[in-house]
Amino acid sequence: MAIAVPGPHQTSFERGSSRQLLIDGQWRDAASGKSFETLDPATGEVLARVAEGAAQDIDLAVQAARRALEDGPWSRMTPSERGRVIHRVGDLVMEHADELAELESLDNGKPKAVALAADVPLAADLFWYMAGWATKLKGGTVTPSVPYLPGAEFHAYTLKEPVGVVGQVIPWNFPLLMAAWKLGPALATGCTVVLKPAEQTPLSALRLGELLLEAGVPGGVVNVVPGFGETAGAALAAHPDVDKIAFTGSTEVGKLIVNAASGNLKRVSLELGGKSPNIIFEDADVEAAIAGAAQGIFFNQGEVCSAGSRLYVHQEHFDQVVEGVSAAAKAIKVGHGLDPETEMGPLVSQEQFDRVTGYLGIGESEGSRAVAGGRAIDGPGYFVEPTVIVDAQPDHRIIREEVFGPVIAAMPFSDVDDLARQANDSHYGLAAGVWTSDVSKAHKLAKRIKAGTVHVNTYHVFSAELPFGGYKQSGWGREMGEEVLSNYLETKSVIVGL
Ligand code: ADP
Ligand code: MG
Repeated sequence: MAIAVPGPHQTSFERGSSRQLLIDGQWRDAASGKSFETLDPATGEVLARVAEGAAQDIDLAVQAARRALEDGPWSRMTPSERGRVIHRVGDLVMEHADELAELESLDNGKPKAVALAADVPLAADLFWYMAGWATKLKGGTVTPSVPYLPGAEFHAYTLKEPVGVVGQVIPWNFPLLMAAWKLGPALATGCTVVLKPAEQTPLSALRLGELLLEAGVPGGVVNVVPGFGETAGAALAAHPDVDKIAFTGSTEVGKLIVNAASGNLKRVSLELGGKSPNIIFEDADVEAAIAGAAQGIFFNQGEVCSAGSRLYVHQEHFDQVVEGVSAAAKAIKVGHGLDPETEMGPLVSQEQFDRVTGYLGIGESEGSRAVAGGRAIDGPGYFVEPTVIVDAQPDHRIIREEVFGPVIAAMPFSDVDDLARQANDSHYGLAAGVWTSDVSKAHKLAKRIKAGTVHVNTYHVFSAELPFGGYKQSGWGREMGEEVLSNYLETKSVIVGL
């Protein structure tokens, strides 16, 4: 398969321009003077040169965040004022929806139409949702029972306080949305932040930095320091004056973050990889399930931590589902993200392209077979065919390891207990899908599956209200919902002897 990548698209984006770091409300070059290139993954062309933050810049950013936390206007704002500022961030994201979607498409490769329909409004909504929490955080009153102080009376209460200076390291698959997921709760709880975007996709987070200032977030409250993981990211995770680190990315790097954080025992939350089962029962609406299975894996080029990459199909429908998902895969229009016809863009980088095509080779050598796709698409750009694999076995690497690309492996099942065991046979536990018309079966399985999100007769539903995160090696803690706030709050008990 070859695709025609059309020539340079008309955009408002000025190619070849430069971007700086946001530290203490100021835009500045890296202390080293170094910069790196960010590329259009559909063409390999340079989009922009970005200041390359490293340990020294991270340190300056942490100092700025500390000052903003301890002395700045931020800590003196009322919760209502803070909430209104966060709400304004959501408004500004929506006012700049087209520009942000274009940046997201250029930097990541995803279709602009997808960014406009999903990434941008979800990011805005996250800020709007979190804005409301700023005024609703509260502790409680408690009556202590103290057996060794007979007759003594107390008044006691709990206070919820910001955990402090937070380091946030985010990935490249939803650059703006991941920034929103991280910044929203940090701002709602009154924390201050050093955010390190992924080196592949720094542009939308930097633009968001400008919008945060415009919305009235005081300088130093959010510092945006692009740079590489091994330098800037590692320095942030290890920094002795950072109180908490929040990370989204690979399980491998998640473990490095945990180690780096141990020096000052900073709080850690992690949203990591997945290998999520999508399960189609004999009593499912098969057409809906086929569409859901295809969307569950091919959305965002398959670069989604909760992608439904293991497809378990009741043997009665196995052939029909494989045929249907394969037909969907073959019909997907792959191309430049700014082409309005495009349904799937390129993978984000050469590294990611090598990883996904490497897994296609591994699958083949293990004895599985691609019935749709299975190959790279001739360049330029990091394009891979949407792929459906059959004949994979439970111990194959293609079934056990996260590919993070548009590759789904279908396996037949007949017995529900065996199916449940297979679905849980993974180090990961991020998400799952269940397709059935039997309500009782759906809820029973939802209980049995060890995953942070179980979809029933739908897939890839993200909303600011719903906690998202992983069991097992898919992570620690939850993003979004009320639940995420606990990652950013300390609880203080105050006891008064009466
Ligand atoms: P991928 O390998 O798919 O790019 P990563 O988990 O490596 O996923 O990257 C996610 C984020 O983690 C990026 O912002 C990256 O720069 C950062 N990162 C990578 N390595 C480290 C590290 N050792 N310490 C801190 N952050 C890191
Ligand atoms: Mg990596």
